[in-house]
This record gives sequence, C-alpha cells and structure tokens, in this order.
Amino acid sequence: MFGVWDLEVLWNLELGIWSFSTRFHSRNFAALAAMPSVYIKTYGCQMNERDSEAVAAQLVAKGYTLAQSEHVADVILLNTCSVRDLAEQKALNKMENVAAAVRRSRPNVLLGFMGCMAQSRGRELIDRLPDVDLVIGTQKFHRTADYLDDIIAGRLDQVVDVEEESGSEGTVREHLFNGTPAAQSVTAFVSIMQGCNQYCTFCIVPYTRGAERSRTIPDIVAECRELVGRGVKEITLLGQIVTSYGKRWSSSFSLAGDSPSPGTLKPELQQPGKTAFVQLLEAVNEIEGLERIRFTSPHPKGYGDDLVEAYRRLPKLCESAHLPVQSGSNRILKLMHRGYTRERFLGIVEKLRCAKPEMGVTTDIIVGFPGETEADFEETLSLVSEAAFDNAFVFKYSPRKGTPAATLPDPVPEEVIAERHGRLLERVNEIGREKYRRDVGRRVQILVEGPSRKNPARLEGRTRTNKIVVFEGSERHRGQLLDMNVTRSGSFTLYGDPAILNDESETLG
Ligand code: SAM
Repeated sequence: MFGVWDLEVLWNLELGIWSFSTRFHSRNFAALAAMPSVYIKTYGCQMNERDSEAVAAQLVAKGYTLAQSEHVADVILLNTCSVRDLAEQKALNKMENVAAAVRRSRPNVLLGFMGCMAQSRGRELIDRLPDVDLVIGTQKFHRTADYLDDIIAGRLDQVVDVEEESGSEGTVREHLFNGTPAAQSVTAFVSIMQGCNQYCTFCIVPYTRGAERSRTIPDIVAECRELVGRGVKEITLLGQIVTSYGKRWSSSFSLAGDSPSPGTLKPELQQPGKTAFVQLLEAVNEIEGLERIRFTSPHPKGYGDDLVEAYRRLPKLCESAHLPVQSGSNRILKLMHRGYTRERFLGIVEKLRCAKPEMGVTTDIIVGFPGETEADFEETLSLVSEAAFDNAFVFKYSPRKGTPAATLPDPVPEEVIAERHGRLLERVNEIGREKYRRDVGRRVQILVEGPSRKNPARLEGRTRTNKIVVFEGSERHRGQLLDMNVTRSGSFTLYGDPAILNDESETLG
C-alpha cells in the first residue's frame, strides 16, 4: 500500500499538555482515475452558483460524473462565500465534518475549497484542515479539472492556487444543462465580468474577486446565442456590479472580441451618452429566440437615464430591478462609501416606475453597521416604506477582516442588531405581502421553468417582474410563455390558472 505517515505535535492550550497525532496518508487516488464522481456544494450568491456550474461542466467534459451527495462522491468541492462570517463558518464546519467522515471510512476521497474564502484564506485552510487537497481561488476555477487530474495521477500533492490570472473573466463560460447535453434548461446565468472596484467599506468582495474585468460584447453574445440554440429562453447577465460593465476592459479586450488589443476605443466613447452596459443589453436584445433578459447586481448609482430608458426601448428586458440600498440614512451611506444619498436612491426608483409602472424592485439592506443609531435605523425603516420594495434581503452587519468598516468605532451590540433585523423584516414582509396581494385578479405573463420548488407536483414560472407563480400544469408547459390569471397570493409567491383564450383582461408584468 502507498502512503506516508504525518506526525503532528500540538500544545493543547486547555489541558496544558503536548498532544501527538499521527495520520497515515494511505490515499491512493489512482483508483479514481477511471471515472471519478464529483459533488460541489455552493455557498453564497448567483456568481458562485454560476462558477460552480462552469466547474461542473468542465469536469463532466473531462469524464467526471456528478454525484448526488457528498456521501457517494470521489471528489468533494465546497465553493465558498466570504461576504459574511456565517457563510465562512458554515463551509468550515462542513469541511471539518466531511473530512472526519472521509478519514473514518473513505480515505481516497479528494477534498477541495474553491471561491471567495479559498481566495482570502489560501494556505491557512490546509494548515487548519490538513485533509484538504485543493484550494482554488476566484481567478482559477478553470484550472480545477487539471489540478484534480494531477492530484489523482500523483503528479501533485496538495495544491493552493490563489494567484491573479489575466483573462480569467473570460473562462467562466461552460454550461451544464443538468448534467446531460440533451436536458433543456429554460433559464441561464451568463457571467459578463469579474471583480469589483467600488470598495464599499463593509464589503470583502474587491479583495476576494479582484479588480473589475469585463468580457467583450461579442464574446458574451456568442455565449448567449449558444444557450438560446440549446433552448434557453431567459438569460440573467451576472457580475458583482454589472452597471460598471466595460468601464475597465480586460487586458485581452478588443472590439471584435478575437485578438488582444488593449488600446481599442471603448464602445461608450463611440456612442456618447450610452454606457457599455446598455450597449451590451442592446446586443443581447437582438438575439433571435431569446425571450427575456435580466441582470444582477447593479449599483444604484449606475442607473443613468440611458439604463432607465433601456427598460422602455428593449422589449426583452424584464421589468425587474434589484437595487441594493444598504441603508436609508445618509450618514451611514456616507460611512459605507456608497456614493448616493437616500434622496437620489428614491429618485432612481421613481424614474424606473415612471418608465415602467409595474417595475418589480427588490433590495439588500444591512442592519447594525458600526455607529448606526436608532435614528439612522428609523431612516432605513422609512425608506423601505417609501420605496415599497417587492422584497428585500436583510443582513446583520458582519465585520470582515481587512475592510475599513471592521475598524470603525461604536459597534452595535448583537442584541440590538437582532432586534432591528426582526423589526425591519416585519416591515419588509408587510409591504411585500401587500404588493403580492395587489396582483391577485390580474393577468401576468410567466416563463414556465419547471416543477415548483415548494410542491413538485405543480409547476412554477416567473413574471417579468420576478415574482414566482405556482400553477397546475404539466411537463409540456416547461419553457412556454404563459398568460396566467393570478387567483391568490402567499408568502412571496403567487398562485394562478392559465388564462382563458379570448379573455379580455389586460396582461401585466
Ligand atoms: N453588488 C452589491 C452592491 O451593490 O453592494 C454587492 C453584492 S454582495 C455580494 C450581497 C450583499 O451582501 C450586499 O448587497 C450587502 O447587503 C451584503 N453584505 C456585503 N457585505 C456585508 C457585510 N460585511 N455584512 C453584512 N452584509 C453584507
């Protein structure tokens, strides 16, 4: 049997004694070489989901199969999130548990961390969890399959790769289609850029995802066309701050999208008054067979008149905007380095609803940012009422190492944060309930995505305004645009019946 003994000698702080632990690497990955199965667990945002999908697709193309659970997988990868401490702790605990189980009964399973926490912690993860074989940063997803091959073949032992890589923004492009090329996906995410240059004082993303780098319009359009050719009807363009798209082209940018030409004139300079992002939306809107376009996340200050106008002009652009406000207090917004005031934010919401009255508006809010007073918090409560969001993600502030806010004075006590969090959620739910209730009796158009997540015996689809509608239907409805009469509303869900032909009521979002 192949293997090496590791000896660890540790000073046990609690007991005041030396402890010795030994570990035998009887790990024979060569046995996996035939057709290893991989299980990827994803934490965090849609960008992470998309990254995991691209890694899974690369692995499937290399002959790996996808395992249904970690218990039967030969390779277990955790794609991690660093935005809040809770997300990091969940992934660390999960890996600790997985490693313990693997050590007990399946020593030849390969373990890896990918993504944001892998990027920010690097080798520290292996020091802490020596059973981990692979740590892959946010610019290295496309190297995962090669590293796994090298470890399985015994060419490499443990791998930590968290370096920057020029052009990596163009490497998240493979799609999985449910693991089988034939299976039809109705919706798809397309990554248009990587990184963030906003440096909001609470946020770790610029440090884990690097500086903004945009893909070219032709490159993105080609990927969207391919997806549409495989049956996709709705595409969500993804980026940390999509409204900054094209402000910083990648080093490999060229207008034609084929050869590197860093000096190429940016499209926004060629079309004054129109951002590169709006030009991208126009190009995607031209794709024949595509029915709907969404995007996330934008930055509120990226909502110029050209983008507001795009909602009027581009028929495929859905009436839905996720506008992360973070706080309703101008004092806190300034401390957060957000670059807008509550008045400007509310002005943007008003402009959007003026362009499209049915516009669905959602947001992210942080409670308990350092120094947040009860008066600041009440400003947030009142903004939520004024903006009348359809839904909101409410987060408790989590200090992130290395961010400016982590060293600000006046931390808000945990119990105060918890109380404010509960109060804000109540307000969000109350407004959301009312907004969903208002849709009852209306006709809406949905794109049927598949079985309902709450009740797989039914089907579900989304309105253009991004509300889920559940209805009685059959598999043949998947991928169809259906008009639905909304019959009742539940908790952030609508229920409906397919509209009767020739019914004269008007179809809304
Ligand atoms: N594009 C978004 C924006 O405009 O700010 C950032 C996306 S971030 C990955 C998702 C959300 O996580 C943020 O909008 C923010 O509400 C929340 N978030 C980020 N850092 C946080 C922190 N340190 N504590 C609590 N919530 C945080």
